[in-house]
Amino acid sequence: MAEKDNIIRRLCPGKTRGGSKMALARERIADVFRFAAEGGVLEGETPVADFNRLADWLAERVDAVRWRLAGRLDAEGGPRLDLGVAGRLVLRCQRCLEGMAWDLALDAVLQPVRAGQVLPRDELENDEFDVIEVDGDVDVLSLLEDEIILALPIAPRHEDCGVSRRAETDGGARGESPFGVLAGLRGGGR
Ligand SMILES: [Zn+2]
Repeated sequence: MAEKDNIIRRLCPGKTRGGSKMALARERIADVFRFAAEGGVLEGETPVADFNRLADWLAERVDAVRWRLAGRLDAEGGPRLDLGVAGRLVLRCQRCLEGMAWDLALDAVLQPVRAGQVLPRDELENDEFDVIEVDGDVDVLSLLEDEIILALPIAPRHEDCGVSRRAETDGGARGESPFGVLAGLRGGGR
């Protein structure tokens, strides 16, 4: 399991000195309803290694995800958060347990509700947006992590475990087609 400390340093310049937990610059939104009403926008790039709960699904904690969270009010004045997250994760293949590059690209509309607030049934059954219960301030990384976990494939598997492994070691990560690599191997053997 590769811990890429250097990525954290590069992405959060000046904020990792001291090594304390606070050093990882966790973004918080003090009042998410106000954030939505004011059309607030937060965006950033977060090392995959910062998402501790996500670790169970990963073969390697490398790279970073880019994200953007934008608040707005819908036509009826209800608070909404538009969330976009993109990046590459190295999931653990459920068949061979090796790493498997997977492109994360999620777009979600979140509806914050106050803790204990009762929602009309039609809002709960609406699947155009996800309801998130908010009690106090919002930890943006935790929110991102929840949404990323929801977006993960249930049982990630290589299409062909052997091919994918060879492609990764032979340069698949640089954009070569795994099929091209396979054809090359076959051609050389004839
Ligand atoms: Zn596999």
